[in-house]
Amino acid sequence: VIELRHVDKHFGSLHVLKDINLKVGKGEVVVVIGPSGSGKSTLCRTINRLETIDSGEVLIEGKPLPQEGKELASTRAEIGMVFQSFNLFAHRSIIDNVTMGPVEVLGVSRDKAREEGMELLRRVGVAEQAEKMPAQLSGGQQQRVAIARSLAMHPKAMLFDEPTSALDPEMINEVLDVMVELARGGMTMVVVTHEMGFARRVSDRVVFMADGAIIEEGKPDEFFEHPTTERAREFLDSIK
Ligand code: ATP
Ligand code: MG
Repeated sequence: VIELRHVDKHFGSLHVLKDINLKVGKGEVVVVIGPSGSGKSTLCRTINRLETIDSGEVLIEGKPLPQEGKELASTRAEIGMVFQSFNLFAHRSIIDNVTMGPVEVLGVSRDKAREEGMELLRRVGVAEQAEKMPAQLSGGQQQRVAIARSLAMHPKAMLFDEPTSALDPEMINEVLDVMVELARGGMTMVVVTHEMGFARRVSDRVVFMADGAIIEEGKPDEFFEHPTTERAREFLDSIK
């Protein structure tokens, strides 16, 4: 579904992505881990062109990511993204947050969008909050709404950039549980996370980044039990 070929990017003199090659197949769950500043968020953002790249290619279902305009907007709509900060529209109700995209971008009727939206809110366990405003919900609930809102667009893949790192500890699991369900349901996912338990249980592949490069990747059990690079060993020791 997603393929990066020889992707390079600089921020001024900082070489933030170095020859990144990554393929994410249909239904695959890839977890990206690595030290702060290693380029994980930048990598995520290049996948739907929130960041431009200097060289290389990003392919979505085998097709190069459009450069701009309508085509880029429609490709972007196919890749859901959930960030660390809750990016709901503060002045719209929860259900409006979930139905706006389908109505305004996909041209779905209001009634149909609402029906689907309520079903999604039930799925993530916040249906009772549908008429509330985002600020009336806990962080964990808001993040689950953000996931429902992305799902309402019927994405081909979902990107998660540390979706639980701004949450109070007791809310982390309620969000991870929704992500586990999504993964089990066959969603193609790229997840940047510090939740190693989640990475181990749910991912098909772990990608370890440091200093802008993919240093090592492998099956979760192999990676966590027997990292082959010194850099990965150091990182795993540092977070134990
Ligand atoms: P963290 O774990 O802290 O979220 P990360 O692995 O996601 O880190 P990135 O956010 O991708 O790292 O940043 C990689 C590097 O690029 C960092 O050194 C950061 O300071 C730098 N950087 C990120 N965004 C920009 C920007 N817009 N302009 C200049 N430098 C940037
Ligand atoms: Mg980041």
